[in-house]
Amino acid sequence: MVPLMSQRVACDEALRAAIEGAYSAFENYRRPADASFCTFCYDETEIAYLRVTDLKAIDGEHARRIAWESADHWDSVDLYKHYLPRILAALAPPDRCDDLYPEHIFEVLNHHQLARWPESEKQVVLHWAQAVGEALALKSTEDAEEWRAATAKLRIEPIELPAAGSE
Ligand SMILES: [Zn+2]
Repeated sequence: MVPLMSQRVACDEALRAAIEGAYSAFENYRRPADASFCTFCYDETEIAYLRVTDLKAIDGEHARRIAWESADHWDSVDLYKHYLPRILAALAPPDRCDDLYPEHIFEVLNHHQLARWPESEKQVVLHWAQAVGEALALKSTEDAEEWRAATAKLRIEPIELPAAGSE
């Protein structure tokens, strides 16, 4: 049996690697200087902050706000992908900010058609979800179960649309 302490170290390491993997997988999604944000959810000061703050330097409160943003409030999938690593970091231990509700992140990913993203990007998200699940399982069976149920919402296969004229 592996001692709990070394399981924790291994989990922390896996999580760190998963989040770093996300930062590098999405680093080519640049943020335009005039990136558009939803004006229902943010005031001008917040929008200015989100436009200029280095991704990793975005504070916990602003990270929570972008994590909670409605799927259809994002200006584009590319802008969402730009911020996604910071969102994934915020939702993971040790920060582990509460999501709007447990399934929210997965619903937003579905909305942005994760199933059709390049395989490498998809794998980064799946590794992250797995690493978070393993870290939660070390602390609370209940949290791990809630996470498992939420991740089950993730659509990782593209939906086959009915062929034209098949109606
Ligand atoms: Zn919004």
